[in-house]
Amino acid sequence: MKRSCKIFYVLLTTLLIGSLLGCNENTMAMEKEKGKAQMNIKKEQFGTTPDGKKVDIYTLTNANGCEVKITNYGGIVVSLTVPDKTGKISDVVLGYDKLDGYIENNSPYFGALIGRYGNRIGKAKFELNGQTYTLAANNGENHLHGGVKGFDKVVWDAKEIQQDNAVGLELNYLSKDGEEGYPGNLKVTVKYIWTNNNELKIEYAATTDKDTVVNLTHHSYFNLAGKGDILKHVLTINADKFTPVDEGLIPTGELRSVKETPMDFTKPTAVGARIEQDDEQLKFGLGYDHNWALNDYDGTMKKVASVYESTSGRVMEVYTTEPGLQFYSGNFLDGTITGKGGTIYEHRTGLCLESQHFPDSPNQPDFLSTTLKPGEKYSTTTIYKFTTK
Ligand code: BGC
Repeated sequence: MKRSCKIFYVLLTTLLIGSLLGCNENTMAMEKEKGKAQMNIKKEQFGTTPDGKKVDIYTLTNANGCEVKITNYGGIVVSLTVPDKTGKISDVVLGYDKLDGYIENNSPYFGALIGRYGNRIGKAKFELNGQTYTLAANNGENHLHGGVKGFDKVVWDAKEIQQDNAVGLELNYLSKDGEEGYPGNLKVTVKYIWTNNNELKIEYAATTDKDTVVNLTHHSYFNLAGKGDILKHVLTINADKFTPVDEGLIPTGELRSVKETPMDFTKPTAVGARIEQDDEQLKFGLGYDHNWALNDYDGTMKKVASVYESTSGRVMEVYTTEPGLQFYSGNFLDGTITGKGGTIYEHRTGLCLESQHFPDSPNQPDFLSTTLKPGEKYSTTTIYKFTTK
């Protein structure tokens, strides 16, 4: 080939590659813009609390057109829509259409933020620095989910969050010294981040001005089929041990192996496969209502559980920095609640996977401490990620 011809070919190839790359960059930039254009946060009034506080509902829409609706009353996730294996988007959490539902119907913590202490504290009492603190006994003789007016029933200050690949809501609440019997002014910030990968990321942070106890969690009831019960949902929990409980669902302090018990979810197993077995722990919980001690806990983010529902093909993975996971199979749902769109929530029509420190830790010297001191920062993260297969 002549020298001039060679130069011509080299130039042509360079031009071609250059324009291809440029085009690719342009397409990517356009796609990104398109994604951003679809991402949206819409704020609307949701209602007024009995004490006259106005409450809003925020619709977070990600680039896939999937939505999470969150109200600043109780930080409640009111709905969460994700596609099934055919691409049909529908709601996979239980709840009410209106604020009144959450206020009047004694909601079983549908979708709520739970604090100051998620789960139970035995005999509604704990000792800290030699002083006994008495809390509300709102679950038999025990204390449950922060008391009579826990973080699920307060109005949070809300700020919208815009990120490159996510939209979100920052919620702030000051829980005053003595509120529900707990010591210390506790400043709490919870960020809900809804990403373009259909992940609901929840970042919890808190600081205090006096020694106190903190254990924050989230209480969505998931039903990946969007209807029916959750007994065919296939669950995996990466935990070789759980914390057995007494009749009042207070841990005995033991860490027990799940091996050869209905508590073994180390391999994918349908929730309903063993739920009716003649097992003392299942009897106490009326089904599953226990804390699993997650394997390899070191405070970093780990995948700890997954749920698969075959008719929809939906999969939910749970990632957390926490040491424990409460799996509650909706045993107290009994058909007396009418929820969204007139749906009657029958027995076990939703399941909760609540990341947490272990229940009753303030009274259990062998469990990891839940004490927060002035100058320290409470900080945990949990992600619920939705895909299909
Ligand atoms: C608890 C259940 C309780 C439910 C309230 C769960 O976190 O473990 O025992 O009944 O919350 O809806």
